[in-house]
Amino acid sequence: MWVLRRLLRKKKRRTRTTSARRDYVLHKERARVLVHERVAFWAPRIGVSPNRIAIRDQRSRWGSCSTKGNLNFNYRLVFLPVELVDYVIVHELCHLHEFNHSERFWGHVEIHLPEYPLHKSALREISRLGLSRKGNTAIVAA
Ligand SMILES: [Zn+2]
Repeated sequence: MWVLRRLLRKKKRRTRTTSARRDYVLHKERARVLVHERVAFWAPRIGVSPNRIAIRDQRSRWGSCSTKGNLNFNYRLVFLPVELVDYVIVHELCHLHEFNHSERFWGHVEIHLPEYPLHKSALREISRLGLSRKGNTAIVAA
């Protein structure tokens, strides 16, 4: 009985979601799989082990890192080319070594992604076009 009740509750919640929320719900599982896969690849290479990983609907950031080693990633990463996904992930993982944007931090990033300045500027350009605007990712994918 509690299962049925739970299903009903779930259904009710779904009908209340807005379209922006629906986008997030639609893509966040795919984002979670992608992020976990790339973190599993990079973390041992970088020599870090993140604490908790969360996928969020962030308006202005692709990723973030807390002093506790918790990483947050934007679900919109699923719309980016994989090299930019890797850049965001390597960037946040390197913050587990250096919690700043010092030369030492960028040195860590460079070891793993020597072409990171290209990725950094590509990502900045995408963000300038409007991270939260729908359709912006189509420009990137082209
Ligand atoms: Zn950073």
